[in-house]
Amino acid sequence: MNHAGSDIGTTESGAGTQSREAELAAALGRLEDRIDAACRAAGRDRAGVRLLPVTKYFPASDVEILYRLGRREFGESREQEASAKVASLGHLSQMRWHMIGRLQRNKAKSVVRWADTVHSVDSERVVRALDTATAAARADGARADPLRVLLQVSLDRDPARGGVVPDDLPMLADQVAESENLQLAGLMAIPPLDADPDAAFAELAGLHHALLATHPGATELSAGMSGDLEVAIRHGSTCVRVGTALMGERPITSQ
Ligand SMILES: *Cc1c(COP(=O)(O)O)cnc(C)c1O
Repeated sequence: MNHAGSDIGTTESGAGTQSREAELAAALGRLEDRIDAACRAAGRDRAGVRLLPVTKYFPASDVEILYRLGRREFGESREQEASAKVASLGHLSQMRWHMIGRLQRNKAKSVVRWADTVHSVDSERVVRALDTATAAARADGARADPLRVLLQVSLDRDPARGGVVPDDLPMLADQVAESENLQLAGLMAIPPLDADPDAAFAELAGLHHALLATHPGATELSAGMSGDLEVAIRHGSTCVRVGTALMGERPITSQ
């Protein structure tokens, strides 16, 4: 399967759209089954875990198909690709876009115009930039609501891979909570490469538990991807971000 993202914005033939729709519907069904089973195994309520389709590198036409299949929330990780895609899908109502990829400070202005939630906030500078940008976007009517913010935790403490180290988490959480235009929604993490996801998600769950003691509204735990969503659900994930298992292989791997 290869659904390259190079044809963003083009219209597929009717037959192509139909077979892609069948493919995505089947993949969604398989994922729902996996999430159901993981919730049952963990003794959790299925309603407590959201599936966030990750559509990076895939064309807007795929998002339209998923919209017809009932999906309203989508994750993107590259700011430029996402703003173009979101702009081309302005006719779809009630969409909620999530920015899940690394965010440069100079992209804050643009990202707050399309994203409901940013999962990858990891520094004071980015928090300040997002607060200022959201204030401006609200002032000129580009958005109404505060920006929902998840702090990305670095579980391998490697600054090159993004995320805030656990020691700095409380301070950054307070900063977000005190920002007028931001809402602290929870935590996000990607397990370190080659690490045991079970240990990584267990550590994340502990950090989330501690955060909830001081910020009870920060209930979101964005954890788990195509390969490890069951483990993440066992450790309290409320949002699994799934690309490959839904959309197929990406033309090139990111992150
Ligand atoms: C691409 C991406 C995903 C989806 O990963 P898959 O393994 O393809 O499911 C999840 N989270 C982030 C931050 C991503 O960049």
